[in-house]
Amino acid sequence: MRLLIVEDEPKTGDYLHQGLTEAGFVADLARTGTDGLHLARTGDYDLVVLDVMLPGLDGWQVLESLRRDNNPTPVLFLTARDDVADRVRGLELGADDYLVKPFAFSELLARIRTLLRRGKIKELEHLQVADLELDHVKRRATRGGQRIDLTAKEFALLALLMRRQGEVLSRALIASQVWDMNFDSDTNVVDVAIKRLRAKVDDPFPVKLIHTVRGMGYVLEIRES
Ligand code: CA
Repeated sequence: MRLLIVEDEPKTGDYLHQGLTEAGFVADLARTGTDGLHLARTGDYDLVVLDVMLPGLDGWQVLESLRRDNNPTPVLFLTARDDVADRVRGLELGADDYLVKPFAFSELLARIRTLLRRGKIKELEHLQVADLELDHVKRRATRGGQRIDLTAKEFALLALLMRRQGEVLSRALIASQVWDMNFDSDTNVVDVAIKRLRAKVDDPFPVKLIHTVRGMGYVLEIRES
């Protein structure tokens, strides 16, 4: 897990860098908002620990720029005062959590671990291929923002195809994963279900995503037309 710390106060910066490295993270330290933004944009970080009061760009501006770029990296704000207006502002700009200085290192560590865990779950709960989206929490599928009504089995089938996009899945594998049927069961049920799913997910749209691979099975992927 790679973390970016943006903190101008030398002692605090070094302390955080050392503590997080010892806790097993790969951590980079930026001492100005400008450097922090540059690193956050170019490095592949799992989380940013961002001080608010910084020389150059302040923490608000760094966060605002990141979110404007659609950079979804979780951000944990460090604020010097426990001010409701500051907190609200941070959350509105897209911060994921905040911590008021001074804080115990153990608390910082706990917050970081929670955010990292939440980030992973979010990834699993939301699948997207082209304009097709599947939200596990809301049990909802949309294409181009248009709601698609699916049965429970169709939902499970689409989730499997999307999770393993680009991979050809055999009828037997699909049957075992979605219907809990074993290999020698009648896999015609898969063809029927795929046909129904296509009617909802692909037929009304110009770009088709579910493809038949003759003699092998099915694959969901974006193909150049
Ligand atoms: Ca500061």
